[in-house]
Amino acid sequence: MKINSQNWDQHDYGYEVPACSRRELLEIANSVYKAVGYKGEGPFPILHLVEKVFPVVYGKYDFMVVSGKELGNKMGETFPNEHVMKIREDIYDAACAGNAFARSTIGHEASHQIKHEGIQLVFARKANRDLPAYKSSEWQANALSGALLMPCSKISSLSIDEICDRYKVTRSAAKTQKNAVKNEMRYGVVPFL
Ligand SMILES: [Zn+2]
Repeated sequence: MKINSQNWDQHDYGYEVPACSRRELLEIANSVYKAVGYKGEGPFPILHLVEKVFPVVYGKYDFMVVSGKELGNKMGETFPNEHVMKIREDIYDAACAGNAFARSTIGHEASHQIKHEGIQLVFARKANRDLPAYKSSEWQANALSGALLMPCSKISSLSIDEICDRYKVTRSAAKTQKNAVKNEMRYGVVPFL
């Protein structure tokens, strides 16, 4: 199997990858906001990012909407080194309609692309429950997705319901991100959007 063709979503815990803190992921989200001109007023334009911005940033990007048959029980998969993302048709349609869960699925895949390009998976160990979260490819993708979909300086003063309504995210994602931002603020101002 070619290194580049390995898929990132085969394992619950993903792969062991270089450590990355929550704060670094918030900083990455902020850079992405600048790249897409997002000001944090409404839902983050996650489809615009993968369909329009990725092809510009990466030169060539294959964002593919595929049948359920092709992906089996997966909702999406990303090949960061090849600049390819496949999203299941029903998930894509739901994301177009603003469905929170579908948006987070695409946010997760986009985060693998942003964070995990260039990592040689052939050398990467499969992660397991003993690995610190910040070294797990899946934790990093979920945490970056949360950071992208919920601008940190905006959500601290909002209720969970308000975060869900304004940013089109699930309740569990809103709770996780609000707690994460609260924790970060204990270490100083979060000077982002
Ligand atoms: Zn993943």
